Amino acid sequence: MGRRILAVFAHPDDEAFGPGGTLAKYASEGVEIHLLSATRGEAGQIDEGLKEKAANKKIHHIREEELLRSAEILGIKKVEFLNYIDGRLCNAVYHGLAGKILDKIRDFKPQLIVTLDRLGISGHLDHIAVSMITTFAFKKTSIPQKLYYLCLPQKLYDKKLQKYFIYFPEGYKESEITTRIDYTKHWDVKKKAMQQHASQKKDVDSLVKRYKKWPKTDHFILKFHRNVKIKFPETDLFAGLD
Ligand SMILES: [Zn+2]
Repeated sequence: MGRRILAVFAHPDDEAFGPGGTLAKYASEGVEIHLLSATRGEAGQIDEGLKEKAANKKIHHIREEELLRSAEILGIKKVEFLNYIDGRLCNAVYHGLAGKILDKIRDFKPQLIVTLDRLGISGHLDHIAVSMITTFAFKKTSIPQKLYYLCLPQKLYDKKLQKYFIYFPEGYKESEITTRIDYTKHWDVKKKAMQQHASQKKDVDSLVKRYKKWPKTDHFILKFHRNVKIKFPETDLFAGLD
């Protein structure tokens, strides 16, 4: 069995807006990547320009299709929707969602799990819930050897983020970041994947602009690991694994 990554996110677009570059890099190296999306992003708005074309298609169908196209571009082999509702991840669904993640871990046997950090990058409560519940699932089994949180370094934080988000956390110090993945060669793929989320055009446009200026590096915190030799800082998610 080859190298496998399980990515767990809350919404369609988290995969591309988040660690899309890193996922594209590993997929291009033959790593099998599966993605769990807790919701179909049904709380999102459809961009005005797309409304006519979308006719009477429901937002969750549009966003589901967008995620499938983005995943295909990134090289993600399989996407599974866990059928929760966007904006409604909370204690009431905790064990149900953890159980679905655990089933997937037992079936797929990934060496690595990737999710968003405990601040949910942008402070979105669904992101935070998925991060916590994924961590809980990781600790309930001994199958995956590493759990990574994608995070935003403080140096990339800027005050303008507060205008759009409710409260956008300020990010992490360099000393807290364990792992940096260079995705320079996969930037075009990441951009193309982001652009598949046309229903979220405003977000896509502003994020593409932001990412263009940023170094083509994804930042991670290796939160938990077992049976691996660890040497920080890392430049490879699979470092220390056979
Ligand atoms: Zn999201």
